Formats: sequence, structure tokens, C-alpha cells
Amino acid sequence: MLFDSHIHCDYSQDSSMTLVEALQTAAKEQVGIIVTEHWDYDYPTNPYAFLFDLDDYFRKFSAYRSEQVLLGIEIGMQKHIVQKDEALIKAHPFDCVIASMHCVKGRDLYEPRSYKGLTKAEAVKAFLEESVATVRLYSDFDVFGHIDYISRYMPYEDQELYYEEFPELWDELFKALLEKSKVLEINTRRLDSPKALAAMEILYGRYRELGGLHVSLGSDAHYKEHVGRRFAAAKQIADKLGLLPVYFKERKMIISKG
Ligand SMILES: [Zn+2]
Ligand SMILES: [Zn+2]
Repeated sequence: MLFDSHIHCDYSQDSSMTLVEALQTAAKEQVGIIVTEHWDYDYPTNPYAFLFDLDDYFRKFSAYRSEQVLLGIEIGMQKHIVQKDEALIKAHPFDCVIASMHCVKGRDLYEPRSYKGLTKAEAVKAFLEESVATVRLYSDFDVFGHIDYISRYMPYEDQELYYEEFPELWDELFKALLEKSKVLEINTRRLDSPKALAAMEILYGRYRELGGLHVSLGSDAHYKEHVGRRFAAAKQIADKLGLLPVYFKERKMIISKG
């Protein structure tokens, strides 16, 4: 069974979906799910927007935990909060920890004003440099989330990421992940675009060339219609490149069957 290892429900402020709704779609799509609510310490636009009561989360959602329903978290990494993040991760019984870049040097990548005065090349370079530096600092996570996060929001005519524009930085990022035995996520959010598919396939292919073998599949669903979305496209990329879809249970990697 394939797992949608990246979904947001009741405890993510920006999600419109409940866990019960997520379970209904997961059953329909025949995927397992890992709930990965947002946890972003010191979020620049609102320091408390993406924090929640973790004891309550485990208390309420443990009732739903099963072989197909696992409980994780998505940590928004920033260099100055690494110790706080890792203490939090250690203190809770997560199945899977996704580490993601939502900010670059205190700038929220979601906000258009974060790109003011920057060319696309400058914005992408800063994103990659900060990703490399941050991944090198963090150790206690399983999956690196959405490498194309910036492509969702950067306000340039061409929002795509091209390996050939920063080959050394992409290589550094993949090597930093592989040195720590971390798994790259294929985030399915943008896989409806042929242009994104082509560009991302080159990046995932480079991860494979550098020795990456495992990938986590995630829709990053915030709406009930999006659980398991575009998994056929993600699986096709993985199969074509020789990458194996995996998921994590009790922080241990399991290779998906089927
Ligand atoms: Zn994210
Ligand atoms: Zn997410």
C-alpha cells in the first residue's frame, strides 16, 4: 500500500479538513496516511500560528492510529530553532517527522513581499543555500519535505526550478540529505503541470544518481479532496527513476508494497 505521508488536518490552522474526512478520502483512494500537522516555531508573520497542543493531538488522534493511519509532524526548520525543534521531536512518539523549509533567513516564502528586490536567481539561490545550511544543522528527522515549495509562491514569470541553474547547490542539498540518510519527498501538489513534472523529474533523477534510493510520497493535503492526489504521477516518476516509495512507522522506514 502506498502512503500519503504528508497531510494536514484538525491541528493545522490553515487546513480545511478533519481527520475523519481525510480517512474517508484515504479509504476511497486506497492509501494509508500519515498526519503531519504544522509545527513552526517563531514563524515570522505570526510566531504562534503553527503551534498546537501536542498532548491533545496524541490524546485525540491515538484512537485512530492503526497500520494505515500514522501520526507525525511537519517541522518548519530555521537555523536558530534547531535545539528547540529537536527537543520537541525527541519528547513525542511520532511515526514520522518531515522537515521543511518554509522560511529563508526570517523571510516567509509564502509572502510576496519576501521576494521584493530579488531576481528569481537571487531568490532561488538564497533558498538553496539556506536549505543546505539548515539540513546540515538538523539531524532528527526522516523526510525532507517539498523541495519545490518556493515554486508555489515566488512571483516570477517562470516559477519553475531548473537543476542546470544551480547544479552545485542542488548536489550539495541532495548530498547533505544522503549523508544523513534522509529521504526526499515527492510532493504531488504541482504534478498536474507538465512543465513542473519535467523539471522535478530531473531533480529527483539527480537525487537518484547521487545514490538516493527512497522517496516519500506526500500530497500536502489541506482539503479532503486532496488526500492521495496525483499519486499515479508520483509513482510513475518513482518507477521510471528506480526510486522506491517508503513511509515511516515509529520512525522506522518501511518500503511500500504495490
Ligand atoms: Zn510545508
Ligand atoms: Zn505541509
